[in-house]
Amino acid sequence: MTIVKSEVTTYQLYINGDWVNPISNDYFDVVSPATGEVIAKAAHGDEQDTKLAIDAAATAFPEWSRKTSKERADILTRLHQLMIENADELAKKISEEMGKPIMQARGEVMNAADYVLWNAEEGKRIYGEIIPAATPDKRLQVIRHAVGPVAAITPWNFPLGMVARKVAPALAAGCTVVLKPAEQTPGSAILFFRLAEEAGIPKGVINLVTGTPDKIGDVLLTDKRIRKVTFTGSTNVGKTLLKKAAEQVKRVSMELGGHAPFIVFEDADLEHATEQLARNKFLNCGQTCISANRIYVQASIKDQFLSMLKEKVEKLQVGYGLDVTTQVGPLVSAAGLKKVEDQVKEAVAKGAQVVTGGTKPDLKGYEEGFFYQPTILADVNESMRIANEETFGPIAPIYTFETEEEVIAKANDTDFGLAAYCFTTNLSRSIRVSESLEYGMVGLNDIVLAQVEGPFGGVKESGMGREGGPDGLADFLEKKFISTVY
Ligand code: NAP
Repeated sequence: MTIVKSEVTTYQLYINGDWVNPISNDYFDVVSPATGEVIAKAAHGDEQDTKLAIDAAATAFPEWSRKTSKERADILTRLHQLMIENADELAKKISEEMGKPIMQARGEVMNAADYVLWNAEEGKRIYGEIIPAATPDKRLQVIRHAVGPVAAITPWNFPLGMVARKVAPALAAGCTVVLKPAEQTPGSAILFFRLAEEAGIPKGVINLVTGTPDKIGDVLLTDKRIRKVTFTGSTNVGKTLLKKAAEQVKRVSMELGGHAPFIVFEDADLEHATEQLARNKFLNCGQTCISANRIYVQASIKDQFLSMLKEKVEKLQVGYGLDVTTQVGPLVSAAGLKKVEDQVKEAVAKGAQVVTGGTKPDLKGYEEGFFYQPTILADVNESMRIANEETFGPIAPIYTFETEEEVIAKANDTDFGLAAYCFTTNLSRSIRVSESLEYGMVGLNDIVLAQVEGPFGGVKESGMGREGGPDGLADFLEKKFISTVY
């Protein structure tokens, strides 16, 4: 394995069409999760920088929102093209900063580019309505317009995808944006902004601030000119932001944490189910909000299921993200690794069995990295921490169940409601179970839920609002009802 040293780059803020130093003139370290070395310095923005970014977004809003849909679509289409042309550089940045295997990072770039193009096209279809009135002298119309300047706050696990999923519909709707990307992974968002600048996004329309999250967040949440906050991240931070947004009744979209059940019935195609589970669970090292977090296997097939899954999981190649053969990279941080180690230790102490993994891998040259071996735990039960928290790591905990009613009740027994999966070949059961699961999204013999055409999002404490499809764009639009006597 070759050990690659990355160059240390310095990232500035992007405010009103200029790349600028933070007022503090202070920078924080961006660290490689594979090696622990500093790979970039990012601007430590604060309240004053954020205020300047909002000034720019508010000033640019009237002109951007009055542009025709076609003018906005033309710019976004150029941005899409530039993303495709620069896909390698974008993917490399994602992989370096968060450890994602390069092939998965490339997939993220393509998916992000798709969101840009899809919204460019959909922006041309922001139609109004004429409603038949109850009296002949009236005309009732509904028009839709941009909600206003928007604050977008994004996490590190899909550092480009989450940015594109917010910025593209916001721009297509006619909104201007202040983005705060995650501190671990500012690089791909910054490259995206450079491409957006090249594509012709006018100054002030998009702005980017990195730095202390609560200080930046407070300014974004308390400035009345920001009319909407779109957030992806943990449920805890989401709740804090929701309380602050309530003060001004700001519009919000919240894409929060998950605790996905993955149900496998005895009538499932087990080859397909284990192959899909190995992909879903270990994609992005398990750091995905829709990762299977509780795997329920019908008791009659437990042994066969475990042996088929084990065979697939033991073939997964763990390593440095930029190595093309890598399938599982490191966790993003020491804290992420510790959470995984603690959950496994506690589960084993309470009787769980390690089927495979359960330790850090021996990777020469990457001893400082936050790696953990893909792990299967059997005999897990509800008394364990892993059963009650989002793991966000490469651990597959297996539970068994006897009946359909029992597993539906267990799957729904959580405050989360983002994604759920059901594997069965019984048509009636597939309808019953998918309709009974209290989740925003259900994969039926399928694990791919983040599709540009479909509404991605959760219920209960997993959030509100949807990203993707027409709903994703509608979240950045207000309806205005106009009643006319003529
Ligand atoms: P996080 O800690 O909540 O952080 C998300 C973003 O919020 C980061 O940019 C962070 O900044 C910022 N932030 C933190 N505290 C803040 C505050 N007080 N005010 C304003 N901003 C604040 O989440 P994460 O660890 O990055 O991401 C993992 C979580 O995201 C998981 O729970 C996962 O399930 C969830 N997620 C959900 C979806 C979905 O679509 N539902 C998708 C992906 C991830 P710093 O980076 O500077 O701390």
